[in-house]
Amino acid sequence: MYYFLYHIYDPKNKSILSENEYDRDVCDNCGAISVTYKGIFNFKIMGKLLDYYMASGIPVISDKFLNVLRENGFTGFEVSETAPRHGTTTMVGDVIKEKYYLLKVTGRCGTMCDMNGDPFPYCKKCKNKVESVGLVANGVSFASDAYDGSDLFAFDSLDNIPIVSEKVKDILINSKLTNLRFVPLTEYIYDEKMTKEKAINRINKGVAFPELIEAWLKYGVLTEQELSEHLNKK
Ligand SMILES: [Zn+2]
Repeated sequence: MYYFLYHIYDPKNKSILSENEYDRDVCDNCGAISVTYKGIFNFKIMGKLLDYYMASGIPVISDKFLNVLRENGFTGFEVSETAPRHGTTTMVGDVIKEKYYLLKVTGRCGTMCDMNGDPFPYCKKCKNKVESVGLVANGVSFASDAYDGSDLFAFDSLDNIPIVSEKVKDILINSKLTNLRFVPLTEYIYDEKMTKEKAINRINKGVAFPELIEAWLKYGVLTEQELSEHLNKK
């Protein structure tokens, strides 16, 4: 069994993103925006100091967490420096002396598939997940030949959420790291609902790209006939 590693959402004890320098890329096929943070990563910690956060979706780990990864010889990640501060919604407090690191998952397991191994739609250019495809599915999987064998790894189309094996999960739990939440890949809800009206609206606005249209036809959001009618109208 494999698990996504999430943080526990608690409005009182959480992290938030601060101002950072970054590079921003927009895919000219699907419009997905990818942000790459540069230099020291700044974020704020509200409430208790915990071992794992997702600061606006960016995984951050404590020194204790990093030591557990290193002591066990785990592979599939890189870390870089951060500058955490204590904060509240109205003021910024003292700099936190404990060390935290931005966790970049480098292990990969290819594209995200349903439980039968059929890949979910992804952009052929940037590999990001295609949203609003008109499908809801329970459980996700990966092809074993696409998995590079790393201890920490991620889907190409969802590269900020670490995935771990049962063995790695047990070691992290036994190490008493705080704020970890494990969601089995088989229980992950892939929810990309879409209505016919919204799909037609996007075609009329000219913001539907080939992979998206292909998915709408595949999952029955539109019929071939409806598609050609609206493409002709445009
Ligand atoms: Zn793209």
